[in-house]
Amino acid sequence: MIYADNAATTKVSDSALERMLPFLQEHYGNASSQYSFGIKAKRAIEQARQQVATAIGAEPDEIVFTSGGSESNSWVLSSVVSGHVITSSIEHHSLLNSCYALERKGIDVTYLPVDKTGLISATSVKKAIRPDTKLVSIMLANNEIGTIQPIIELGPYLRERNIIFHTDAVQAVGHIPVNVKELGVDLLSASAHKFNGAKGTGILYKQKNLSLPSLIFGGEQERGARAGTENVAGIVAAGYALEESIVDMYATTDKLTALVRATVDGISTKIPNITINGDRNKCLPGIVNILFEGITGESLMHLLDLKGICVSTSSACASGKNEASHVLRALGLSEQQAKSAIRISYGRYNTMHDVNAIVAGICDAYMKITAVKS
Ligand SMILES: *Cc1c(COP(=O)(O)O)cnc(C)c1O
Repeated sequence: MIYADNAATTKVSDSALERMLPFLQEHYGNASSQYSFGIKAKRAIEQARQQVATAIGAEPDEIVFTSGGSESNSWVLSSVVSGHVITSSIEHHSLLNSCYALERKGIDVTYLPVDKTGLISATSVKKAIRPDTKLVSIMLANNEIGTIQPIIELGPYLRERNIIFHTDAVQAVGHIPVNVKELGVDLLSASAHKFNGAKGTGILYKQKNLSLPSLIFGGEQERGARAGTENVAGIVAAGYALEESIVDMYATTDKLTALVRATVDGISTKIPNITINGDRNKCLPGIVNILFEGITGESLMHLLDLKGICVSTSSACASGKNEASHVLRALGLSEQQAKSAIRISYGRYNTMHDVNAIVAGICDAYMKITAVKS
């Protein structure tokens, strides 16, 4: 099998797995128990909190562990009780659906458009601000096209106006340098399974002067903000996986850049009418979204699946619904064009051998589909 859908999820790294396993059978104590068996689990959580904080330029007491990126996003958005929210039209569904829920409660939401490369201009955010704007939530990097947003230009401006600033950095953390202080955000969401940690562990950075209502009531876990017995093994894996991604980041970036370039070069020599969606300069290194004029991304994906190659047509959450991607539509593509794209997302374990197989697989599948049509 060749896995090239790392924007959907990633494999747990060997070292993260090795560190998390003992917390399932050996050190399985409850981190809230007062005897040393429990304290061991508690210490492991606090170490992971430190690792995550260091990785994103935060302090340990600014990190809350959640069940994933969706939970972190939903938590932040659900905290808005009145006024106005600004977001973008290309956010992940966990964020957009949270905004729709806010609208049903009478809160106004502005969904900012993007340009044809998927960029949101800082000016458009500033122009959308109203006296009652409470929260701005703009993703750091898009999961379908990889575009990196200029949110660094917004932090000080929003802070001066007392507007809370959140970013969904699920695709960015562990992949590009992320520093919450440099970005000037108050809140940031991340998810371990997107950076070779385990599924079911998320991160919410919350700037320490900001108060956020508790999400889950119960015990004092996560300072009472999110009660419930912690997912110790997942949290331990998150700490190590993130630390490891950051140590390897520059080497991984170079490798992913080369893999993407070879993929695009390889495909375009055989299939001339392809277009790359998104901005190739301000972009995550491993994600490439390719439009194949005249065929559907779905047919391509299924033929690749038969060859044991995993790529995606859209975001995993949206696929299966047979709707054109809202992100590609926001770039100005027609419904038909938006259905003609596939996303290839490489991760640290992909190789040039995978690229060759993917290029050959795509060219072969494309010829089959177009031969049937003509
Ligand atoms: C994957 C993803 C999420 C959701 O994270 P989960 O941990 O799977 O809930 C949110 N936002 C973006 C940009 C993502 O890519």
